[in-house]
Formats: sequence, C-alpha cells, structure tokens
Amino acid sequence: MNRILLASAFLLATLSAASADEIPSALPAPAAVGSAPKAPAPKLVEPHLHIARSNIAGHVRIALTFDACMGRADERILSTLVQERIPATIFVTARWLKHNPAAVAVLLQNPDLFELENHGENHIPAVDTPTLIYGIASAGSPQAVRQEVEGGAAAMVAAGIPAPHWFRGSTAKYDLSAIGEIRAMGYRIAGYSVNGDGGSLLGAAITEKRIASAKDGDVIISHINQPTHAAGEGVAKALVDLKAKGTQFVRLEDVEDTGDDKTTE
Ligand SMILES: [Zn+2]
Repeated sequence: MNRILLASAFLLATLSAASADEIPSALPAPAAVGSAPKAPAPKLVEPHLHIARSNIAGHVRIALTFDACMGRADERILSTLVQERIPATIFVTARWLKHNPAAVAVLLQNPDLFELENHGENHIPAVDTPTLIYGIASAGSPQAVRQEVEGGAAAMVAAGIPAPHWFRGSTAKYDLSAIGEIRAMGYRIAGYSVNGDGGSLLGAAITEKRIASAKDGDVIISHINQPTHAAGEGVAKALVDLKAKGTQFVRLEDVEDTGDDKTTE
C-alpha cells in the first residue's frame, strides 16, 4: 500500500514538474544510464522568484523572463517585444548565442528593452551529483556546475553582452549545494512564479491565458527558442493582452526581488 502511494506521489510530482522548463526534444541525447551505479537521488528544488509588487490597486507589475536554451529564435515573440516596446529578461546559453547571430544583434540593438542573463554553456542542469532530470544528465560535480556557469558567461562577454548577474540553469532545478556554489560565484539564481508555456509544450490558448492572468509581482518563465511550437503564438498574444491592460513590465535588474531556497538572499 505504502509502495503504491509512494509510486503515485512520485508520478504526480514528475508530471507536474514536467511542465517546468525543458523539453527532451530540444535537448542533447541523454547519457546512457543502464550501467550507472545506483546512488540515492539528490534532493532537487525548483525555486520560486517574485519581484516587488507595485502595491497600487489595478497596477500590475510583472517581470517577463524567457529562456533561449538552444535551437532558433522565435520571431513571433521577439518581434512583438520589439514592436510593442516591452522589456524582458532573456536567459541565453552559449549554444543559442552561437546559432542565432541575427537575433542576438536585435537584442543588443535594444538595450532599453532587453536584459541578457546566463542560461549556461551547454544547457546542462546545475546539479552537482550525477542524476537525470527529464532524461537529461546533470552536470554531476561542483567542477562541472562551475564550468556550465562560467562557460555561459564567457560566451556572453565574447558576444559583446555585458557580464551577467543572474543565472538560471537548464530545467530550472538545482540541488542546494549547487545553489550555494553559484551564489558564491556572485550570481543571483532566477526562479519564477508563473510557468507560462509549460516548457513550450502547451497549446497557444492555454499559454496565452496563463501569461495574461499574471498578478502583481509575478515572474513569468517562457521560451523564446521554439519557433515551431504553438505555445509561442500564445506568448505573443499574451504580451499584447498584458500591454493593453496597462501592465508594467520590468527586467530583473530594475526591481527588488525575493527568491526562495536561498537563491537571492
Ligand atoms: Zn532552458
């Protein structure tokens, strides 16, 4: 009985977590694990982040954050942000920077809109013991976590982007010791409070609804690297919806914030 309950709880946790950041189809082939020795799974957290509320009735302030994991830029979202002059924080990997010079140029041409931050070098989860997250092999050691963070930052600076101050790892999951390590490197770690697009796997209508219903102080996570997915259409529509409602858009560098799991304190 207990075993069945535990298995059910695990399945539920897995299913709900799967709406978080990543999609296996966009990721490198997972490492073979068949022969890996069994070790206890590390305790992982998926931290929340909120920004300071406006605390003005009817005045909603939100932070839009987008992950550019790999693949191509989603022009539906990028062009809407530029045309509507909506500020956002974009988390980029070294891999995405390398393959999207035209989009990077647009981001750099609009420094009043875009804060660029660190999503890592190779989109490897920042977990310092070996495990699989959505089938993706974690960094697996403190040295590999450091390389993922430092490699992402180095690629940004090489691309002409100011040195980053925020880090968000692949899958948005961490173990607590990796959080401590990344904080000691001088970064704040970017959780979120609204999962806008379910790792870019949701339909357009539900994505639009999730993002457009954000509340004062919310930090929304979505993806800007899946131009063929329906979710991006919903993201672009929600941006217009929010602007029409008079929403105040801020970047993470513009406001005070509060993250749990010791990600910002
Ligand atoms: Zn990502």
